[in-house]
Amino acid sequence: MRLSRYYAPTLKETPAEAEVVSHKLLLRAGMIRKLTAGIYTYLPLGLKALNNVANIVREEMDRAGALEILMPAVQPADLWKESGRWEFYGRELLRFVDRHDRESCLGPTHEEVVTDLVRHEIRSYRQLPVNLYQIQMKFRDEIRPRFGLMRGREFVMKDAYSFDKDDAGADASYWAMYKAYARIFERLGLKFRAVSADSGAIGGSFSHEFMVLAATGEDTIASCPACDYGANLEKAEAVCPPPGQLAPCPAAETVATPGKHTVEEVAAFLGVDAKKIVKTLLYVADGKPVAALVRGDRALNEVKLKNLIDAKDLRLASPEEVVAATKAPVGFAGPVGLAGITLYADQELALENGWIVGANTADAHLRQVDLSRDAKVASFTDLREVAPGDPCPKCGAALAFTKGIEVGHVFKLGLKYSKALNATFLDEAGKEQFMIMGCYGIGVSRIVAACIEQNNDEAGIVFPPPIAPFEVALINLGPKDEAAVAKADELYDALNKAGVETLLDDRDERPGVKFKDADLMGFPIQLTLGGKGLARGIVETKDRRTGEKGELPLEGFLEAFMAWRENVRQGWGLE
Ligand code: ATP
Ligand code: MG
Repeated sequence: MRLSRYYAPTLKETPAEAEVVSHKLLLRAGMIRKLTAGIYTYLPLGLKALNNVANIVREEMDRAGALEILMPAVQPADLWKESGRWEFYGRELLRFVDRHDRESCLGPTHEEVVTDLVRHEIRSYRQLPVNLYQIQMKFRDEIRPRFGLMRGREFVMKDAYSFDKDDAGADASYWAMYKAYARIFERLGLKFRAVSADSGAIGGSFSHEFMVLAATGEDTIASCPACDYGANLEKAEAVCPPPGQLAPCPAAETVATPGKHTVEEVAAFLGVDAKKIVKTLLYVADGKPVAALVRGDRALNEVKLKNLIDAKDLRLASPEEVVAATKAPVGFAGPVGLAGITLYADQELALENGWIVGANTADAHLRQVDLSRDAKVASFTDLREVAPGDPCPKCGAALAFTKGIEVGHVFKLGLKYSKALNATFLDEAGKEQFMIMGCYGIGVSRIVAACIEQNNDEAGIVFPPPIAPFEVALINLGPKDEAAVAKADELYDALNKAGVETLLDDRDERPGVKFKDADLMGFPIQLTLGGKGLARGIVETKDRRTGEKGELPLEGFLEAFMAWRENVRQGWGLE
């Protein structure tokens, strides 16, 4: 491709609406353009990157035995009513009525459609297992679609669905997808981590998220440097020894803590460690007040609380609600005598007694509190957020925190959709059974953004070679010099023939403009042909990732180039 005839409108200024670096750079490098909120056109460079990702995903799905299909974007409401999701899927589901007054929606995911397909065709265990996938445009009416391709309303997903006759088969299907995903992200040249997305279960977990590691990621991952344990912060388990016999504690007594609201203030005022204080946090769960207790130096994990009480909606109580519930100003809530409110305590609070807690009275706390004696705690369980350095639940080594972007999810669904939609088959004994399902998503367009979040610098994008729209930018500094043009054309043909996709910058532009654009667009390899180099019989090279410059001889160029290209790829950790 020749840049003089290409459509890659670059921008000098960063568009104000772009908040994250991938969004800024995709716009500036002329890869995407916004049509309306969360909806983008892929320009030639952006589409090439997207297709590069999609092709690797497709190859690995095929290798794992999945079969490609293409399902419709428009789905009838009836199917969603059958699965029960018409009611439960929130406003992300874009619903509309067609000219015949039929309720419909734009597919945010395809469990219903694929289960409907399979239930009409599969009759016998002999037809199982089957794994069907597609690479298709999804629509989700996200509330805040402001991160470009990272969180679009319209986006490209690879979604696969497996159907098995028994549990062992379903587990095998799951792990085959897990392995395919690991290969996909390795082949893409991305640093990633698979994290357990199940709460509680270690080992036997059948839900993993694949995270691309990037300092700008929305998710925090707790991972173990010593073993393969990795979990989203919201799911990471806190390790806690079993409670033993507690020493008796003298009767609780009130202490004055005038104007001391926070744990730090109370600890400093009473001259105790924050570890001796219990934080009482008031929440409203599905309209009902509840209280969560954690040690003063810990943070509550709201997801754990939400799961524990199986709440649909959980929010912190407002200051007015706190005052109404505790009859005291904010900052003095405590578990003793808190009438009508269910108390949930973190498991650590069962290990000791003699706690300091809010007294539900202005300017006062209680000390020598024994939670089992003085309060009505409904349960002691894991409610706190883990912190860096906490022991790994699997091997005990110190956990480390990193940031990541969710790019894929593998999930064992079990019978949820096959039961709801009655997808059955006859087993070996002629007995009717429900198919066991799994679903496996990859955010194809999000990967393009995530790879940029992971790989960029002040000058622009630094594409991993497998994703880069072109592997090589060949910059001709003398577009009006016949000898240079002839040489550039020769190299361009040789590279493309050798399967190295090359973009030839043949524009009549200043060298500075050409170098800036090549850097901005992020091609992994830059080759520069100039008058002086030509005279010396060399072409200049630059590895975009390291910035390292060098030269290759024009005599025997292709061979020398291919050898050097291997080094560049190895630097990316690619085979
Ligand atoms: P998130 O928590 O980020 O909203 P999700 O749990 O809703 O993701 P899934 O339903 O598991 O995502 O979809 C599979 C994959 O599709 C995700 O891992 C993610 O990579 C991608 N994806 C989901 N929502 C979007 C979006 N709005 N824009 C781009 N990609 C998305
Ligand atoms: Mg979502």
